[in-house]
Amino acid sequence: MSLIKDLISIVGEEYVLNGKGKDTDQDELAAYLTDWRGRYTGRAQAIVRPANTQEVADVVKLCARYEVPIVTQGGNTGMCGGATPSNKGDAVLLVTTRLNHILNVDTVNDTITVQAGCILQQVQEAAAKQDRLFPLSLGAEGSCTIGGNLATNAGGTQVLRYGNARDLALGLEVVTPEGEVLNGLRSLRKDNTGYDLRNLYIGSEGTLGIITAATLKLYPQPVAECTALVAFESLDDALYMLNYSRKGFASKLEGFELMSAYCLQIVNECFPEQHLPLSLDHPWYALIHMADSDSEEQARATFQRVLEEAFNNDIIQDAVLAESIQQSQDLWHLRESIPLAEAIVGKGIKNDISVPISRIAPFVDDTNTALQTWYPGVRHIIFGHLGDGNLHYNIGAPEGEEEGFLAKQEEAFKIVFDSVTDYDGSISAEHGIGQLKKDMLPDYKDEVEISVMRKIKRALDPQGLMNPGKVIDSVDFDY
Ligand code: FAD
Repeated sequence: MSLIKDLISIVGEEYVLNGKGKDTDQDELAAYLTDWRGRYTGRAQAIVRPANTQEVADVVKLCARYEVPIVTQGGNTGMCGGATPSNKGDAVLLVTTRLNHILNVDTVNDTITVQAGCILQQVQEAAAKQDRLFPLSLGAEGSCTIGGNLATNAGGTQVLRYGNARDLALGLEVVTPEGEVLNGLRSLRKDNTGYDLRNLYIGSEGTLGIITAATLKLYPQPVAECTALVAFESLDDALYMLNYSRKGFASKLEGFELMSAYCLQIVNECFPEQHLPLSLDHPWYALIHMADSDSEEQARATFQRVLEEAFNNDIIQDAVLAESIQQSQDLWHLRESIPLAEAIVGKGIKNDISVPISRIAPFVDDTNTALQTWYPGVRHIIFGHLGDGNLHYNIGAPEGEEEGFLAKQEEAFKIVFDSVTDYDGSISAEHGIGQLKKDMLPDYKDEVEISVMRKIKRALDPQGLMNPGKVIDSVDFDY
């Protein structure tokens, strides 16, 4: 057991769990070894929680010496089992949540430098304290970490204006698979000195190295925010309104969140205390959010004018405008409650696909039809970031048929992903590949791209110890 002893010598006994001690809290172990959706459970030789970059580097060096795989975990809110070790039990699970310090806020450079285990909300709050906005925002922001956000290149509700995690990162500190510390923690907006290593690590889901800190972009806090929930007669109208909003609000448009009537219906059924301000007489709804640095009055006037024009032109059928911050939050709460309601009404299959915005309507029509032909009665739970062409195109089991339906997950994925491919889309716009989609990736990505990814993996992680069995297999490794 010298691996465990050596780990203890690096981080201290309190921060190494190996499940062997009689005092081991089995619930604590299970929380690390199972993903939050309960879809994956793995085993590990040890769960180790380093406190700083040096400890991470020492743990990685040690694992390299023992040839022990490392799975990195942040907030464990990922959707693809990327942070759950395999069942082999040979890996060390490295949890980053003790690397939770805000290192610097530079209000002249408009940047914040944070350790990777900081919770996203903590970063948002640290920015707000300095009257700045850190605009990454997603439903899991109270528990996901910034390292996890970068490792999965997370998106969320404000990508339309500010981009995804990749667009918000200026510099990274990374521990390489050999245990070296790559100090790329620069806060430069321009740096053309060779290969873009930062962007290689972002989105690599812990398969190339461990992100230990990041320098991120900040923005001015908006002076005014306007939110509306609007109803459409068709998906084409929703797309028309998206373009209309882009024209009317220009770069001030922050969110355009599409929801089918069924999504709002299940939220209403599961959380009746949440007031639904519109009747559900129309098939599609969207939450439109605009933020402005001008005056509240001016922002509201522009918002109302654009919505009124859309209404008069029969693009939207019904609308409610938030009159206060509380009302705006209530509208957002409806949107954010969809995944929770989904989990309550029954298990299903989640997809986070993207297709070119102009092709979304026929994609949804064709794929819905194909799914109904395959499994009559499946429930379509469709919502997402319309402005990014990214839909959570989820499929719920017909009532009482969960088990049989979930056993056919692979068939459902094939129908959806084949359709995504026909429409020139991507099988993952946000959540990543993890272990969930690893085996399917080569079928839906260009052969040469896959081959280059393998070469990169082999070059940067020659021992194949970084999050094995996730994203991509390297032909040389037996996972
Ligand atoms: P984890 O789940 O712990 O890990 C995810 C992956 O990143 C794993 O492969 C892990 O090995 C790797 N990893 C974690 N930390 C590091 C690190 N420091 N260095 C290297 N690799 C690392 N995602 C979106 O993109 N958009 C959304 O709108 C969105 N909404 C969500 C809403 C809810 C309610 C929930 C539960 C999840 C949502 N997600 C969304 C998914 C999830 O929150 C994100 O993927 C998040 O970025 C993961 O962060 P985490 O710290 O929980 O990472």
